[in-house]
Amino acid sequence: MQVFKFGGASIKDANGVKNVASVLHKVGYKNTLIVASAMGKTTNALEVVINNYFNNKKELQSSIQDVKKYHNAILLDLFDDENHASFKKVATLFDELSSFLDINKSPDYNFVYDQIIGYGELVSTVIISEYFNNIGIKNNWIDAREHIKTDNYYRRGNVNWEETQTLITNNFNKSILNITQGFLGSDANNFTTTLGREGSDYTAAIYAYCLNADSVTIWKDVPGVLNADPRYFENAQLLNKISYREAIELAFYGASVIHPKTLQPLQQKEIPLYVKSFLQPDEPGTMVGKDLILEPNIPCFIVKKNQVLISLSSLDFSYIVEENISDIFNKLHTYKMKVDVIQNSAISFSVCVDNIYNNLEKLLLDLKAKFKVTCHENVSLYTIRHYNKNAISQLEKGKTILLKQLTEGTVQMVTK
Ligand code: ADP
Ligand code: ASP
Ligand code: MG
Repeated sequence: MQVFKFGGASIKDANGVKNVASVLHKVGYKNTLIVASAMGKTTNALEVVINNYFNNKKELQSSIQDVKKYHNAILLDLFDDENHASFKKVATLFDELSSFLDINKSPDYNFVYDQIIGYGELVSTVIISEYFNNIGIKNNWIDAREHIKTDNYYRRGNVNWEETQTLITNNFNKSILNITQGFLGSDANNFTTTLGREGSDYTAAIYAYCLNADSVTIWKDVPGVLNADPRYFENAQLLNKISYREAIELAFYGASVIHPKTLQPLQQKEIPLYVKSFLQPDEPGTMVGKDLILEPNIPCFIVKKNQVLISLSSLDFSYIVEENISDIFNKLHTYKMKVDVIQNSAISFSVCVDNIYNNLEKLLLDLKAKFKVTCHENVSLYTIRHYNKNAISQLEKGKTILLKQLTEGTVQMVTK
């Protein structure tokens, strides 16, 4: 069995969907599960819908219309016949979305978010599945929520592996082409949950683990895993082979080409992961596997933009000791800050965080009760794995370094 994951970029328009079909024809699709994301930037567009629902009701309908129109244009491009069943199926999903918003009474933003955001993946997989059946790539559409069970930590559900394994073992036909949604799961009450933004890679890994798949391939708009994000670095080079360990490190530090949670289940069962280009499917791309030696062995650069550097010192010049540190971490946890780097000295403590849940103001207010606080917003966090002098000086050029930390294989810098 093989698991293929196609992300939003690969299916951003009708040509993208057609290209996925041509990838399948080229590389074969026997015993394959396809995990697909929402089309293009649909998830962002649905986030606008959710925000409008809570904060800007007068724009709500038009934001829903935008999402509908985008998908309708793709449908019109893929199907000659406007009476094709796919139009109806997609319309039904959008009706479901609207009626949820009409009847919903929950003020819980994260709950509502998950109930709405999932339509991106539901619609995309219905379109792909219908189109493939139409052109002779016979397949079976699966609702991932019937397989992947999570807790009710909406927007970042934690997988219940036992239940998920049982459901997949009992309800999955491995011998046909299956198509399902990335990113989605459901809780004990069957409400939709999601696995965190960009979580579709993780879905592919969950299925691969539960199905004992032979491989996972994630199809990207880049030739594979590069030694730097091509959007921010010139001359990024393809990494032919990397170990799970290296991939976990790269993903952890923010190399957004692979979702950080993806590697762990694959590594446990030693299922190889391939990262390949959906534009050049015959090229080998990157192989991620057990103990593979980084090839070529070059420095790898990772950047996370839009981070926040918070520096704390005690109000009375007393030491920052374990007690304060555990208090600080408690607060970071309470406000759901993702911690990137920490550094401490006798009387100060610095932490670079990702303010994913927009709780910075509340956190700062809380910290100010106990510490002198300075805060730099909008800073960038650079990480170099396998650094050398040259790599560091190249990166430092023209930047103000607010924090720098070197360990054996890794250097991290927070810059303005
Ligand atoms: P998907 O369509 O699967 O969601 P993403 O857009 O999330 O794909 O991931 C692919 C993008 O990741 C690339 O277009 C590239 O800009 C970015 N990226 C960041 N770091 C790397 C890296 N080290 N190697 C390759 N791509 C990277
Ligand atoms: N569609 C979701 C997102 O954009 C999940 C994914 O694409 O991986 O975050
Ligand atoms: Mg993505």
